[in-house]
Amino acid sequence: MTIHPVVIQGNPVLHRRAAEVTDFNDELRTLIADMHETNTAANGAGLAAPQIGIGLRVFVYAMDNEDGVAPQGVLVNPSLVTGKVSGNSPDPDDEAEGCLSVPGYHFPLKRAEWVRISGYDGFGEKIEFEATGWFARCMQHEYDHLDGKLYVDKLVDRYKRKARRVAKEHGWGVPGLSWMPGVDPDPFGH
Ligand SMILES: [Zn+2]
Repeated sequence: MTIHPVVIQGNPVLHRRAAEVTDFNDELRTLIADMHETNTAANGAGLAAPQIGIGLRVFVYAMDNEDGVAPQGVLVNPSLVTGKVSGNSPDPDDEAEGCLSVPGYHFPLKRAEWVRISGYDGFGEKIEFEATGWFARCMQHEYDHLDGKLYVDKLVDRYKRKARRVAKEHGWGVPGLSWMPGVDPDPFGH
């Protein structure tokens, strides 16, 4: 297994729709194993294939949950049904989200409290479950990656401006930037 560099906001693969997986083969299973290893090294809650530069509809997660779902898993070619997203202002303390491709920052974002997700594992076996709370948030965040959307793209104006400012400060928003889990300092201080 191989730990891969995590690409940063601005890399085109993060900003376009990822392709469906068509072959459930060893290559896919190696990708999944590498993604788990990379996510673990990055202390991530989830990692989508585009975040390691691979434009395929695959994500892994590692999150304890109250939904009776395995705390670590993969979704290939997922479909997502979400509950309603509240129109209230996001809570900066309780709803602050982060992303390995926007390293070191958290910005609050409203998400649905409930989702149903279905997809496949690396062998093409069907997976389906419901998720609530932070686990539901994780599913929405990772799913968005497969559609080329980062959470910073969905922020309300005030936080979107902040996120743009930090991106500019770091020189992000251009292709070719990445960081290496387990080598570079943990951007979230874990
Ligand atoms: Zn992310």
